[in-house]
Order: sequence, then C-alpha cells, then structure tokens
Amino acid sequence: MTYDFDLFVIGAGSGGVRAARFAAGFGARVAVAESRYLGGTCVNVGCVPKKLLVYGAHFADEFEQASGFGWTLGGKPDFDWATLISNKNREIQRLNGIYRNLLVNSGVTLLESHAKVVDPHHVEVDGKTYSAEHILIATGGWPQIPEIPGHEHAINSNQAFFLKELPKRVLVVGGGYIAVEFASIFNGLGADTTLLYRGELFLRGFDGAVRKHLKEELSKSGINLQFNADIVRIDKQAGGSLQATLKDGRVLDTDCVFYATGRRPMLDNLGLENTKVALDERGFIAVDDQFQTAEPSILALGDVIGRVQLTPVALAEGMAVARRLFKPEQYRPVDYQHIPTAVFSLPNIGTVGLTEEQARDAGHKVAIFQSDFKPMKLTLTSSQERTLMKLVVDVDSDKVLGCHMVGPDAGEIVQGLAVALKAGATKRIFDDTLGVHPTAAEEFVTMRTPVGA
Ligand code: FAD
Ligand code: NDP
Repeated sequence: MTYDFDLFVIGAGSGGVRAARFAAGFGARVAVAESRYLGGTCVNVGCVPKKLLVYGAHFADEFEQASGFGWTLGGKPDFDWATLISNKNREIQRLNGIYRNLLVNSGVTLLESHAKVVDPHHVEVDGKTYSAEHILIATGGWPQIPEIPGHEHAINSNQAFFLKELPKRVLVVGGGYIAVEFASIFNGLGADTTLLYRGELFLRGFDGAVRKHLKEELSKSGINLQFNADIVRIDKQAGGSLQATLKDGRVLDTDCVFYATGRRPMLDNLGLENTKVALDERGFIAVDDQFQTAEPSILALGDVIGRVQLTPVALAEGMAVARRLFKPEQYRPVDYQHIPTAVFSLPNIGTVGLTEEQARDAGHKVAIFQSDFKPMKLTLTSSQERTLMKLVVDVDSDKVLGCHMVGPDAGEIVQGLAVALKAGATKRIFDDTLGVHPTAAEEFVTMRTPVGA
C-alpha cells in the first residue's frame, strides 16, 4: 500500500511543527494541516504575546523606580493599549511568516484548513482526502470557562489578547499560570485588578514559600486578591458594565470578567469516533510512553495529551516522535523530570525540581536554604518588593532536589540551575561554584545556613 504521505500532522503548533520539520528533514513525506494560525497557541495566543504584554506592564515599575536614579520623566507616563496590541500583532504576523518558511523550506506540504480524521489512515481537508501511513494529532487545547449563568459575558485568554480597549476594572478568575500572569499584566498597565481564586492560596503545586511570597508581592503591587471566592453568576448592566455575584453573596462591579480556569483538549470535529483512539479519564488523548494512541497508525502529543502543558515539552515530544518514526537510531525518550518553568507574574516565579512539600512527601529528609532580600536595583527606590530564593536539598545524598525563586528575571536564572539539577548537582557543588557579583542570582550559590539550624 502506498500512501500520499508518510506522516500527516494535524495542528501546526509547537509540537506539530517540530515533529513535521524534523520528520521531513529525516526524509519523510510530510503534510501539516492548520486551521487557525501557524505556530499555534504559543506564538499567537500564548507564551509570545503574553511575554510582550508582561514587558509592557513592567514599564510601570521601571518608570516609578527611575526617579531614584536621578531621572525626571516629563509628567505622568501615559499608556496606550491600542499601540501595544497593534505592535504585538505585527510581531506575531512576522513570526507566522517565519513558521510558514520553516515548514515550506523543510519540504512539508502545508494545508491551511481544518483537518478531520476519516479512518485510521485518511484525513479530510477542504473536501479532499489524503492518505498517510502515520497520523499525528497535535491539536493543542482550548480555554474552558465554567458554565455559570452569564458566562457568555466573560472572556478567556484568547480574547484578552485582542481586546479593543484596556478595561478600567478587571476581575480575573482562577489561580493558575494564566490568571496570575494576566492579573500582573492588567494591574501593571493600569487596570483596577481583582484576582479571584476558589481555594485558600493560588498556584497549587508550586512550593508553599513561593506561593506565600507571591501573594505578598502581588498584594503590594496593588492587585486585590480574593481567595476562597467563586463567582456564581454574571449579569450585564444597562451601561455595559458587569456585575459578578459571588458564592458568599457579595456582588462585585467590574468592566471585564476574565476566566483562566484551565484548558480542555481541542478535539472539535476531529473525527476520533472514526478510530480506536481512546481518551483518558480527564478527556485528553491517551497515549503510551512513545505517544502511541490505541489506534496503531495514530500518535498524539502536546497539550492534547495533557501531560505537561508547556511549549518546551511539546517541542521535546515532537522531536521524539519524528525520531522514533523516521530516525529510530537517534530516538531518546522524553525526560519529564526536572522540567524548569516560569510564571511571568510581576515579579516572576522561576522553579525547577521538587518543591519542599513534594520532597518531604517522597520521603526525603530535607534541608532548606532560603533567602528573602531587597534586590540591589531597588535599593535606591521606594519599592518594597522583595526577592525569594529557596533550595531544597536531600540531606542523605546532598543532592539539590529543587530550586525556587520569586523575583526579577527568575525564569532566566532558573534556566541555568536546571542544567545543574539535570547533571545531579549536590549542595557542595553549589557551594563550590563562585558567584557572579553583584547579581541577585549569586544568592543561589552563597546560601550556607539551613533554615532552623
Ligand atoms: P498548540 O500550540 O495549541 O497547537 C495546536 C494547533 O492545532 C493550533 O494552531 C490549532 O489551531 C490547530 N488545530 C486544532 N485542531 C485542528 C484541526 N482539526 N485541524 C487543523 N488544525 C487544528 N508555555 C510555556 O512554555 N511558556 C509560556 O510562557 C506559556 N505561556 C502561555 C500563555 C497562555 C495564555 C497559554 C494559553 C499557554 C501558554 N503556554 C506557555 C503553553 C503553550 O502555549 C502550550 O503548551 C503549547 O502551545 C502546546 O503546543 P501544542 O503543539 O500541543 O498545541
Ligand atoms: P491551570 O491549570 O494552570 O490553572 C487553572 C486554575 O483554574 C486553577 O487555579 C484551578 O483551581 C482553577 N479552576 C479550574 N476550574 C475552575 C472552576 N470551575 N472554577 C474556578 N476555578 C477553577 O490553567 P491555566 O488556564 O492557568 O493555564 C493552562 C496551562 O497553560 C497551564 O497549566 C500551563 O501548563 C500552561 N501555561 C504556561 C505558562 C508558562 O509557562 N508561563 C503560562 C500560561 C499557561 P485549582 O487549583 O483549585 O484546581
């Protein structure tokens, strides 16, 4: 049996593009179908535009701090949302073009339309059916909003990137990455921002000290944090503003309710019913450790399998699939240990390895090294922001199990530490490493006394 393609990839996001490009590079005949935007979530409504908005929001602090260094700014700095959004859109268009070239130049056939699996070896795009030996589902995820009365008045992260105006008042709902990042963005850009989370403390799964520190910092920055709070209905008012009624009966007036309450797998009109592909108990596509679904010819990766919803993970999975199928001698399984991650709140969180809670639960006897200080850059300013650094060390082996930080550039700093953890660095190696002076990062190699010693 000959097929039109060796590999048909559905979805040109982080994982799909990586798998397609490398498979084509290994000599495979590859097609990619993309229904919405080249580069997927990360490039269009995720990491990239989000980071640009975070940079934009951080200027508020920079302007405030400038006077401590002798700068006088001509009047109160003014911010124009439309300029930021149109510049962001221009940059994203440029990136879309780069993704197009990457695919086309690698010899991938690009079909810019919705794809539907019609049987285990056939995909339909725009009424035309293509055959493929392997089909890779890399369709990503989609924001989900609880269906409370009036949920249609709320926006999700996809819409937030294209708001015509910056709302004067925003209610952000959720306590994960997106909620915390967007609360910082809206607050920094000047909106009166409330963050509403249903639990005791946001960022479940992050280190306890990090969560508490960020809570303090976000409060200081002016975000109104409301924990143990949940919206039960949203009503639109005559003038266009919104009223959110909380479970405890309180009513909050706002101009925008922004839900960041997780993402579901994107399976809409994908045709999985025409295959044996099975879903796991959460509704994500079930795969084995080689990204194989229950249908032998169909693989899946990235957000649609719901393992770790991060771009570098989708990229690594894409690479593994391309190698496994077309360059098996180079195949290496994806290592899900020590995945570094940053939350681009203001200030940022950077983290890699085990939290103190995870380390203790796993039975480690741990020593904690922790430092909480005012960063040097802020010493000439009236800012009250403080930085937190924390190391979790296994007492028996001396291995550093986790590194955690809240502070400027935490993501940048933790990337380097991730290499050390991957290499199995001990606290002794951290101690023997010389600092780069004067930096905040040097604190990670100069903490000597464990907490409580
Ligand atoms: P996606 O990038 O979502 O790509 C899936 C593609 O498939 C989409 O382009 C979609 O249009 C297409 N598609 C879907 N169905 C079909 C179909 N039937 N036919 C054709 N095409 C289809 N991760 C980080 O590491 N760092 C960050 O800072 C970060 N920030 C984020 C901020 C936000 C607001 C969001 C929402 C996510 C963020 N992420 C971040 C997560 C990251 O974007 C995702 O983990 C990553 O994009 C997943 O890649 P993917 O290839 O699995 O899916
Ligand atoms: P997350 O899964 O991170 O967080 C979802 C939040 O919504 C949790 O706090 C959860 O609470 C809360 N929640 C869920 N359902 C409800 C509900 N019905 N009512 C009220 N609250 C609810 O999802 P996000 O949407 O923030 O982001 C999706 C993923 O995208 C992230 O997990 C991450 O992998 C990725 N991402 C990565 C970024 C980065 O790398 N910087 C940035 C943005 C996104 P609870 O904890 O109580 O369950």
